[in-house]
Amino acid sequence: MVRAVKGTKDILPEEMPRWQLIESTARNIFATFGFEEIRTPLFEETELFHRGIGEATDVVSKEMYTFPDRSGNSLTLRPEMTASVVRATIEHRLELYRNPLRLFYIGPMFRYERPQKGRYRQFHQIGAEVIGSDHPAIEAEAIEMLLLLLERLQVRGSELVINSIGCPSCRPDFLNLLRNAVSEKLERFCADCRDRSSRNVLRVLDCKQETCQEPIESLPAISDHLCEGCRSHFLQFRSWLEKRRVPYQVRSRLVRGLDYYEKTTFEISNGLLGAQNALAGGGRYDGLSALLGGKPSKGFGFAMGMERLVLALPEEAVKESSSTPELCLVPLGEKALEVAAGVASKIRQAGKGCYLEYEARSLKAALRSADRIRARWALILGDNELQTGQWVLKDLTAQTQRLITETELLEACASGAGKTQILF
Ligand code: AMP
Repeated sequence: MVRAVKGTKDILPEEMPRWQLIESTARNIFATFGFEEIRTPLFEETELFHRGIGEATDVVSKEMYTFPDRSGNSLTLRPEMTASVVRATIEHRLELYRNPLRLFYIGPMFRYERPQKGRYRQFHQIGAEVIGSDHPAIEAEAIEMLLLLLERLQVRGSELVINSIGCPSCRPDFLNLLRNAVSEKLERFCADCRDRSSRNVLRVLDCKQETCQEPIESLPAISDHLCEGCRSHFLQFRSWLEKRRVPYQVRSRLVRGLDYYEKTTFEISNGLLGAQNALAGGGRYDGLSALLGGKPSKGFGFAMGMERLVLALPEEAVKESSSTPELCLVPLGEKALEVAAGVASKIRQAGKGCYLEYEARSLKAALRSADRIRARWALILGDNELQTGQWVLKDLTAQTQRLITETELLEACASGAGKTQILF
């Protein structure tokens, strides 16, 4: 039997209400902040990610799905979407129309990582980008939007940590300092960190290995080595968070896995997630547009992992949003089926939902199947009911029943505007 590829997973119908709730809530909230959706191709020229994310990052050096197409072009399945969004912005000169541009996206990303709970090789992100402004208030607004989404989804227990990782004018000196400090006690670091010390020394700060924690503690912190511009930007960003009453912690060792970040970076973690507790992350990327051949343009954005958000989503939030029909029409016989099909059309035209049972061999079998599809109500139409015009409405949860006419049923459909469920 052929199975799904390792690290990928099918999202089955029973999980779908969670995904749909997340997507629709995100679309609603992002719209209230003036963000518009963008969709870019799943694959891009490999060079985009080499230039944008950086050759020395784990994502580019170890995790990309890169392949030649039939004409020999090197293509890569997108491992993240900021580089694609900035490419599209340059290509279509989107900044001419709105400044700043506020964009969001929802879609799959691909990274060849070691699969575990909350970590996949195909995973989904919801992300947002603000392109064309370096105002620290916009960073606080984007984070406020992200936190509002979590609040609306009733996801509790998230923590915001922030940092500034400097800019091209202050970071090189700090990297030299850090490299020297690491090389002084190189033998105390794990093999990965020893490798990172020459390739991408900032990531040493981010190592999760138990044995590295003590030597990391004594390394210099970038927050003590910021230039005046970065220091003042960070202070303003913090004060904007405070004005918006967003609680946060500064973690001076927070660095991100992608090279394009500078100045503000942040992460949102959630204790419900276990080992892979990073729910979302982002930061400023003022150099990315120029790196990709566009005119210099400031940018700030974030991405949130949807599989992780699904894990953190409480059951109540999903229940409240369920939109599958609660009513199942159970006609017993061909004549009843004809009548029931007509009533089903009227119910759906009124914007409500119902299942129609086609092959009710017996009442008992029909009720069992209504139960299986998780209907709350069964509306039974047999010979008796056809004659009297009174259907039997059975409440499958309370195990009670009463009689109802077609007119009463359609009246119930007209109430409770907007909901697919019928309020009896
Ligand atoms: P990044 O693009 O690395 O900044 O990641 C942003 C968010 O995407 C993370 O906080 C995770 O929630 C999610 N994420 C990243 N990589 C994976 C993965 N391999 N599987 C599932 N979620 C991921």
